[in-house]
Amino acid sequence: MKKISILIPTYNEQAVLEKLFARLTTLADSAKEYEFEFFFVNDGSRDNTLEIIKDHAEIDTRVSYLNLSRNFGKEIAMIAALDHVSGDATVIIDADLQDPPELIPEMIIWWERGYDDVYARRNGRLGESWLKKFTSKMFYKTLQSVTRIPIQKDTGDFRLLDRRAVEALKQIRESQRYTKGYFSWIGFNKKEITYKRDARAAGETHWNYFKLIDLAIEGIVSFSIAPLRIATGLGTIVAVATFIYLVVIVVKTIIFGTDLAGYPSTMAVILFLGGAQLLSLGIIGEYVGRIFNETKNRPLYLIEELHIGTRKKTR
Ligand code: UDP
Ligand code: MG
Repeated sequence: MKKISILIPTYNEQAVLEKLFARLTTLADSAKEYEFEFFFVNDGSRDNTLEIIKDHAEIDTRVSYLNLSRNFGKEIAMIAALDHVSGDATVIIDADLQDPPELIPEMIIWWERGYDDVYARRNGRLGESWLKKFTSKMFYKTLQSVTRIPIQKDTGDFRLLDRRAVEALKQIRESQRYTKGYFSWIGFNKKEITYKRDARAAGETHWNYFKLIDLAIEGIVSFSIAPLRIATGLGTIVAVATFIYLVVIVVKTIIFGTDLAGYPSTMAVILFLGGAQLLSLGIIGEYVGRIFNETKNRPLYLIEELHIGTRKKTR
């Protein structure tokens, strides 16, 4: 029997977990020809998330969980789980039921037809403000324009991955992660299916605009050196323009003599150059900071407890 692992990163999700378990059980019952593993990562929740998962693990051997030593963020939680899932295929799904588990059987069908990465594209977003929709659209546009890898628009992490795609992802050990980009980067046979993204079933989103901006910068900087090129280009343009201006001044002085004036224009030029230099330094800094973080070579995550449903507890 083929095994499907359902990978669920959870952080303070006590409000939706029972609903999620119900939906997952229904799903498993409707696809009896597969064995299921419900793999939860508890990403340092401060509520009863872990206790609820443990309760279910006690009576249901399909439930496995990985308890991280603290909150590491969803990106790290996902790689931690990918390191430990055992399925022939793995489905990554949010705990908050924004991604309907009912889509999974369709994903499995495409997987059986030979696709390695069956991803769900949202063709509608409920319960999200127009500002969030607009900013996310602009972000995808910018990201696509600066990188050669095709970026999948309007898709999240909700997808089914074949074992070989999982093995490929496991090899990417960057500490500042942008998993959405990795899905594109690994390649393999991709299949898109569409769905309507629901509003959160309960609880609150963990995202805010700072986190989103952070992820956006991460996406661009980890997949392209275009910002560095922009800085180079800006520098070149300013240098060339300044040189031409210099020649003009020299010629003007020789022909017409000097008229000492132009304090405002001098200030403008100095301030502009200062600003451009700071901006370029900042951009370089983004990359240097990443080099710094990667060279530290710290482990991506630490495990507090690992429980595999069919096996004994380990610590
Ligand atoms: N999540 C996590 N660690 C975090 C933040 C979120 O594992 O630090 C999980 C969360 O439990 C959920 C998923 O990531 O299953 C998506 O989070 P959320 O619904 O808050 O994000 P949104 O859907 O608003 O983008
Ligand atoms: Mg959500």
